Amino acid sequence: MIKVSKFGGSSVADASQFEKVANIVKSDPERKFVVVSAAGKRFSGDNKITDLLLLVNAHIQYGVDCSPLLATIQQRFEEIANELGLSFPVAEEFERFVESIEKVSPEYVVSRGEWFTGKLMAEYLGMPFVDAADVVVFHHDGTVDMERTQTRLREALIHTGGSFLLPGFYGATVDGQIKLFKRGGGDITGAVLARCIDAGLYENWTDVSGFLAADPRVVENPRGIHRITFEEMRELSYMGASVLQEEAIFPVREVNIPIQIKNTNAPDDFGTIIRETANEHAREHLITGIAGKKDFVGIYVQKAHMSNEIGCVRRALSILESYGVSVEHIPTGVDSFSIVVNGDDVKDSIYSIVADMQREVKPDSINVLPGLALISVVGRNMSRRAGTSGQIFGALGEAGINIRMITQSSQEISIIVGVQNEDFEKAIHVIYDHFGNAEVISER
Ligand code: ASP
Repeated sequence: MIKVSKFGGSSVADASQFEKVANIVKSDPERKFVVVSAAGKRFSGDNKITDLLLLVNAHIQYGVDCSPLLATIQQRFEEIANELGLSFPVAEEFERFVESIEKVSPEYVVSRGEWFTGKLMAEYLGMPFVDAADVVVFHHDGTVDMERTQTRLREALIHTGGSFLLPGFYGATVDGQIKLFKRGGGDITGAVLARCIDAGLYENWTDVSGFLAADPRVVENPRGIHRITFEEMRELSYMGASVLQEEAIFPVREVNIPIQIKNTNAPDDFGTIIRETANEHAREHLITGIAGKKDFVGIYVQKAHMSNEIGCVRRALSILESYGVSVEHIPTGVDSFSIVVNGDDVKDSIYSIVADMQREVKPDSINVLPGLALISVVGRNMSRRAGTSGQIFGALGEAGINIRMITQSSQEISIIVGVQNEDFEKAIHVIYDHFGNAEVISER
């Protein structure tokens, strides 16, 4: 099986992290393709090289001297090269970069984080270096030209004899302009590579042992999630449990390549495998994970005989659309509905939104309920199994937590409950304690 192994910024932050990467890559002959991010934080409060390079651009833009900043960046790379005894001429190459800095694009400047890190890692691993600017082809609108990219990556595979290192996060248009993915986009490069060379597994090495069944800042020592589907991961990430750049899943999901999240600092931990479907007929957890966010706002609209009037909800929604506010949920009653939105999105506009709704919908009353927290209980094994939501509501009720909203996703893979911000942590505890380790036989 071919594996693509992508190492994030903290996994390549300094020489000792480079050593861990080399041990990981060398311990498995199937790890023939390596993607790296730019060196990240070595300790909390440290700077990521990418952030420093963005700062360099800001200095250039405002005509402020950036030489001390450049010296800091150069030093990070020199330390790695010296400690590992590498022969890559950091000083010379860096000087070339600095001399060209006024002439190159801001994207080019930022891409040098991955380029230098990649050059050093390629030498240390004894792997050929393939420049992402030559193989990851972008359209001018910033999307990837998958066809051209695939052709070029396959050519690279032949030229290099079937193993290489690719720096993540950037590529170039056909006329050679450097383009960047979104922040954290090294994950996307890894996924694109895995897809283009038909890898059997995309390993994503980071500094956590995969997804956890609950936020460790709320629940002490939650269990790890070993297997999760792409769909479940979307639900959990959307609610804040994010480990992977979201867009990284699409290239591999379409062709059914699993992703395994692994921890560079604890390589024996299993991590999390994300794939389209999970095991059939296996003993599995009833609940895959719980995640949530605070500070939503409910706009509660009530109007007698609304059920006979067509267009009320549409008018209310188009008002939100005109303010550029995205809608999270719309629980409805016979003569009322609520619209749940992200509090941050309406913090400056809520009064105007309400005024517009008064005018357009002419309701009997509108109430704004701030401080709503949403908790999503996610689990592919909950569907077609009676009683799960009853247990959630029962457990919350027994703990004296008032539920202010309930919805279930259409695929039945998540149940979402809204509670007061103040009850958020307690509610997550209650649900985790009740279900966290409950097991069932999966029937999928
Ligand atoms: N170095 C880039 C960033 O910090 C991309 C990545 O790490 O994946 O966002």
